[in-house]
Amino acid sequence: MTTKIIEPTLFEKSRPGLTGASLPPSDVPPAETSDIPEKLLRKGNIGLPELAEVQVMRHYVRLSNLNHHVEKGFYPLGSCTMKYNPKANEDAAGLPGFTHTHPVMAEETSYGTIELMAQLGEMLCEISGHNHYTLQPAAGAHGELTGLLMIRAYHEKNGNPRKNIIIPDSSHGTNPASIVFAGYEPVEIKSTERGTIDLAALEAALSEDTAALMVTNPNTLGLFEKDIVKVCEMAHAVGAQMYMDGANLNAMMGYVRPADLGFDVAHFNLHKTFSTPHGGGGPGSGPLSVADHLEPFLPRPVVRRDENGEPIFDFDRPDSIGKMQGFYGNFLVMVKAWLYLRMLGTDGVKEVTEWAILNANYLLSRLVGHYNLQYKDTPLHEFVIDSTNLKQFGIRNVDVAKRLLDHGFHAPTMSFPLIVPEALMTEPTETESKASLDSFADAMIEIAREARENPEILHSAPTQTPIGRLDEGKAARLKILRWPIPDEI
Ligand SMILES: *Cc1c(COP(=O)(O)O)cnc(C)c1O
Repeated sequence: MTTKIIEPTLFEKSRPGLTGASLPPSDVPPAETSDIPEKLLRKGNIGLPELAEVQVMRHYVRLSNLNHHVEKGFYPLGSCTMKYNPKANEDAAGLPGFTHTHPVMAEETSYGTIELMAQLGEMLCEISGHNHYTLQPAAGAHGELTGLLMIRAYHEKNGNPRKNIIIPDSSHGTNPASIVFAGYEPVEIKSTERGTIDLAALEAALSEDTAALMVTNPNTLGLFEKDIVKVCEMAHAVGAQMYMDGANLNAMMGYVRPADLGFDVAHFNLHKTFSTPHGGGGPGSGPLSVADHLEPFLPRPVVRRDENGEPIFDFDRPDSIGKMQGFYGNFLVMVKAWLYLRMLGTDGVKEVTEWAILNANYLLSRLVGHYNLQYKDTPLHEFVIDSTNLKQFGIRNVDVAKRLLDHGFHAPTMSFPLIVPEALMTEPTETESKASLDSFADAMIEIAREARENPEILHSAPTQTPIGRLDEGKAARLKILRWPIPDEI
């Protein structure tokens, strides 16, 4: 059998300047001798590309350069915690002892894997202050659903089914979605003019029908909920449970433990706070930690230690809500988070928090005056400015976001939280240097100047990217997910 290497010219010719992924059919014949029954043998060729390593390498490097990612540039997408992902994490996750583990292997032969899960769960519990955990959920949103189903099981076990779950109006969209998925009704309460939970509104909304309150802390404005201990007491007084959306743990870990504030459940986004890559849909991981009274309802199997301290999978869980995910969760994401925490240690975890907060406040101090700041309290790890001050020049937040691409930066999160019109939610994370914060601030200030002096530049941005300004409505409705792109587009 001969392997034919196609000519570079063919590869290049298919779409000059783009990916070159439109390839000629393979002319490799099917295997001539094999044990596979004749009728299962392939009759024709399947047209797989045959390329030399160097061609494949160039293809992917070129593709990666067409995109923006945290390895290429600053990525201050608020709430998403786009910190740098240490490459040691990838090396660890690629170790054959992990990658060759199969989920149906006997426990005795995957001892190290289970030990790692136990250690990760224990470290997360140290951060949250709870005693029990599950690593099964595949993302933050999935953790929310898991936690709410446990809360539901808890109330039902107590013969006390309830109807609704309260969320502040600054909450992330996954919160109401998870509430509906878990069979409850979301009840939204207004924030105060300072951007935090309004105790009077909470008092009015709380009742014996309240199953839980879901709170992000610090909230999506980057503000610490100063009354959170009181909020937890008020919820507990009517028998409601406190769920903490832990997406913003990067502002708290090592300093404040959710359990000490009064939360009964908290989720962790390993792919945000704990430095495992994200974007593009996965894989993620959204472990939960829970207080003692919710432990019986954890998804099955629970990873725990037996009387000798050995880690085991515990399937004997009569009150469990059941399985939330095939097998045990996204294990290789856990490996990365485990290594990240082991590399940092207790002091390192605290330093992450300190630098995340310092970086956000430094950046904000440079941008105040050039952009509007609706909620003026000192934020923690992220802040929400907005472009309403540029509206008089016909400029919207999307124009600022597109122009940032021309400067080589990803945009902040736009139009979230919903309570800030034209929001630009910015989260620099601890892994950025002062130089990168300054160059981003310079670009933002320059864009504000352009908005005043020459707004047309912003309307036509980006002009320096492989693809210019798209018709966003059309791009969302008319998804082209195949290559090559038809000519008429
Ligand atoms: C990211 C995020 C979520 C959802 O987490 P996923 O892991 O993306 O499912 C929930 N709440 C907040 C505040 C978030 O930032």
